[in-house]
Amino acid sequence: MIRTHTCGELRITDVNKNVQLTGWVQRRRDLGNLTFIDLRDRYGITQLVFSTEINKDLLEKARDIHREYVIQITGIVRERENKNPNLPTGDIEIVVQELKILNPSLTPPFTIEDNTDGGEELRMTFRYLDLRRNPLKNNLILRHKLALETRKYLDSLGFLEIETPFLIKSTPEGARDFVVPSRMHKGTFYALPQSPQTFKQILMVAGYDRYFQIVRCFRDEDLRADRQPEFTQIDCEMSFVEREDILQTFEGLIRHLFKSVKGIELPKFLRMSYEDAMNFYGSDKPDLRFDMKFVHLTNVFKNKGFKVFDSAEIIVGINLKQQAQATRKQIDEWTEFAKSPKVGSSGLIYIKYNEDGSIKSSIDKFFTTEQLKEVLEISNAQPGDLILILAGEKIKTLKGMGQLRLHIAHQLNLIPTNTYACLWVVDFPLFEYDEEEQRWVSMHHPFTSPIGDLSGNIADIKANAYDMVINGTEVGGGSIRIHNKEIQKKVFELLGFTEEEAMRQFGFLMNAFEYGAPPHGGIAFGFDRLTALLCGVDSIRDVIAFPKNNAGKDTMIDAPSEINPKQLEELGLIIDPNVYKN
Ligand code: ASP
Repeated sequence: MIRTHTCGELRITDVNKNVQLTGWVQRRRDLGNLTFIDLRDRYGITQLVFSTEINKDLLEKARDIHREYVIQITGIVRERENKNPNLPTGDIEIVVQELKILNPSLTPPFTIEDNTDGGEELRMTFRYLDLRRNPLKNNLILRHKLALETRKYLDSLGFLEIETPFLIKSTPEGARDFVVPSRMHKGTFYALPQSPQTFKQILMVAGYDRYFQIVRCFRDEDLRADRQPEFTQIDCEMSFVEREDILQTFEGLIRHLFKSVKGIELPKFLRMSYEDAMNFYGSDKPDLRFDMKFVHLTNVFKNKGFKVFDSAEIIVGINLKQQAQATRKQIDEWTEFAKSPKVGSSGLIYIKYNEDGSIKSSIDKFFTTEQLKEVLEISNAQPGDLILILAGEKIKTLKGMGQLRLHIAHQLNLIPTNTYACLWVVDFPLFEYDEEEQRWVSMHHPFTSPIGDLSGNIADIKANAYDMVINGTEVGGGSIRIHNKEIQKKVFELLGFTEEEAMRQFGFLMNAFEYGAPPHGGIAFGFDRLTALLCGVDSIRDVIAFPKNNAGKDTMIDAPSEINPKQLEELGLIIDPNVYKN
């Protein structure tokens, strides 16, 4: 090694030691006959001193050293006069005796500080500089610890980490696949896996009993906020289990991760049906750090002669505690939000229950005080509260109210920080109707086992599926799987597959089910999202070393990029124009 210590290591007990350090120049301060350099590496920062008293030439040399130069020094540790309690090495400094520039640096295009002046695009292009900053470095260290603790926990329960292939077969179900052309078999394509779903199920058929993998997955979806075309999952599967076993095992994993990596003891995980989540929070991933549970007002309001309500399928309200004093302007802003495409409502109705007990509403003309009082009672309103009401088509109105609930909670700072509200959402519908495609699609994926059988109204069939939600973020989801060929075939039939199509795409799995498939189930966690949650950052880009930007590009390496015609030809992707002559 060309160093004896790292830049985060030396303490007061090391005083008088002769040491050699290496690192990057964080900053230089020149004060008359003294120069200080903060030397940085992954482990921390150590202050170096140069002075005319010790060595004038060396001081001159130090003054030619700039930000991000890589240097090596030899010197003696001494106690600092002005200690820095914010720095683990803040009690000491190094009196430099020898200085060697290992590599100079151009002036970086943004400052390498915790709060940088660099814009996102610049930071992405110079990712190696961005990665030198503490916030990113700490996130990646935490990510590493999470991966390590995941492996420890699952290993202790007998899970085996098994790799599955990246070059697989494209299937139109689910999101869009990234495809890779085959050179050896021109005109054919591999697809990159959206998840190892079918492989992990095959591993269960093969008797591996407990599998996991921290694995990259690829989805060619339109880029919505904070989505990455490649992302990482903690992917897991178990045999001979029921739903309860999975929930216990993986609640255990998440508890272990929070405890071992952050020292946080998570509260009890609640359980909520999909139906309740939608009815009372307008979301399948409700944020339960705050209340504002919906009140259902359809029975009170409908068929009382007010057209907006009479034509509505559903009428729901939320009680905003102590907001009766909300200004006209404030209510107008909420109304605008309710009318925005995000909510898509025709308007927002309010009832103010004033401190003095009087009631003022935007529907005074249509309802008696008695009727409004009944609403206040159902809503558990106290003087000073404000009720906001949306009416319309069921799912749209519930989801819209869910959005409004979140919007207001953020705006009024009603969401406590440093708390974790964890729950399992269960009993999802097996299918949902896709308006765009005009057909029924799987809500999770087609391998999810129904609860009960597949007869009856397709909309009413429930899935043996579950999502883990923390603070309104879906961190994981999975299901008990179908392990019977006939049921699997029937699901494909309900999804509109012909038997041939189903066999062509998923025959390998259905055939495997005929050779002793055990009952099995599993789950996958979004590792990036989970890490972001534990790092307390909003964007998953801040927990991925080399993410794509929000246009799906890597601006550091310039990908995606064109490939040369020769490559295209080799892959059979350019058709030789001569072939078509005459
Ligand atoms: N493969 C599923 C997904 O990626 C998760 C699971 O069912 O285990 O969402």
